[in-house]
Amino acid sequence: MSQKTSITTKILIGMVLGLILGAMLNWLASGIDWVQTYLVHGLFHVVGAMFINSLKMLVVPLVTFSLICGVFGIGDVGMLGRVGVKSFGLYLLTTALAISLALTIAILVGPGKSDSIQIQNSGFQGKEAPPLTDVFINIVPSNPVHAFANGEMLQIIFFVILFSIAMLMAGKAGEAIASGAEYLNKVMMKVVTIVMDFAPIGVFFLMAKTFSEQGIALILPMAGYFFVVIGCLLIHALGTLNLLLVLLSKLNPLTFMAKIRPAQIFAFSTASSNATIPVTMQSVEQRMGVNNSIAAFTVPFGATINMDGTAIMQGVATVFIANVYGIDLEFSQYLTIIAMSVLASIGTAGVPGVGLIMLAMVFNQVNLPVEGIGLILGVDRLLDMVRTAVNITGDAVVTCIVARGENQIDLDVFTDPEAGVITEVELPFKHEMDTP
Ligand code: ASP
Repeated sequence: MSQKTSITTKILIGMVLGLILGAMLNWLASGIDWVQTYLVHGLFHVVGAMFINSLKMLVVPLVTFSLICGVFGIGDVGMLGRVGVKSFGLYLLTTALAISLALTIAILVGPGKSDSIQIQNSGFQGKEAPPLTDVFINIVPSNPVHAFANGEMLQIIFFVILFSIAMLMAGKAGEAIASGAEYLNKVMMKVVTIVMDFAPIGVFFLMAKTFSEQGIALILPMAGYFFVVIGCLLIHALGTLNLLLVLLSKLNPLTFMAKIRPAQIFAFSTASSNATIPVTMQSVEQRMGVNNSIAAFTVPFGATINMDGTAIMQGVATVFIANVYGIDLEFSQYLTIIAMSVLASIGTAGVPGVGLIMLAMVFNQVNLPVEGIGLILGVDRLLDMVRTAVNITGDAVVTCIVARGENQIDLDVFTDPEAGVITEVELPFKHEMDTP
């Protein structure tokens, strides 16, 4: 095993070992108090949560500095507009394709049609969908400090782009800030590398915690629903997205899939597209050669507005719950479901479990019983992990397509299997420092 590949391999090993340990504890030790208190809710929870926090900690500064560099690097407001329109259009397209695929397959397979599922009042309460007008109004931050403090991604993107355009107009003052931002961006990328060094341990504890709480047996009564969602997720990630990549960018999907794997593992372990932003950016920029000027915008934008995997879950869940309750949906309702889930994904951030809240919004629109969501709650965490991996795959595919269209991808880097592989971090010990 070469030194170069060791971090990704170690993360994978951490994931598998954590999964096995968690599943075994769930099976053998779910009634043992000290295991639950000191291991599952103690050690596993604390280390896992510290690791997720350390990833989230990177997101706002990384997006800010690299977006300043990106916009300043483009230096052309026309191109910026083109990148914005193209990525927005592609994100909507991939989400619409995802949910249409899910609805079609779910209608054909018909999960939930057998009468073995008991309807009970689960007490699941949905939220009202925020009016679409609010979604647009909220893109503009009334207080940027509040937006940064709360990690409101669309507001941050809006403010930083505006600020960077002003930098372009401000001559020398703008140039000075841009060179500062470039240094800060470089340093932040190093912070990402340091955090990634702890990833195998973090991922191990996250997996151990999740699987010691989630018995695999939970899946059995929901097997129909569960496997239709997983099947659609795989078809979309391996089929639709790769097809788009080939058709629209002529890039090799096998190379793409190999290089996006670490980001997929992070998304799977954290169930959060937002927390995965630093790793997705690292993968597309350093492993695939996408220019920072594109990725700095499309990756955080996609993590917020593009959720193909979540849309797939919503499509299958709608058909499943309609089947369980014996409700026949009309064609116009299916169209409403497609439109609603595409729109709902724009206004909601990529954080764990948000898909269910969006689903409640969709149900309200088509008058399906929101408490039906209680039926799928039990298996949602596992599906959340898989669909988050699909969500970030969609972000990366669109990033590559847009970058290729703008001639902002270095094909030598893309095809080089060793490019940008994260190696072990060598901390600068005293004798190695060359600065006083
Ligand atoms: N966890 C998903 C994400 O962050 C959203 C969801 O489906 O709940 O992308």
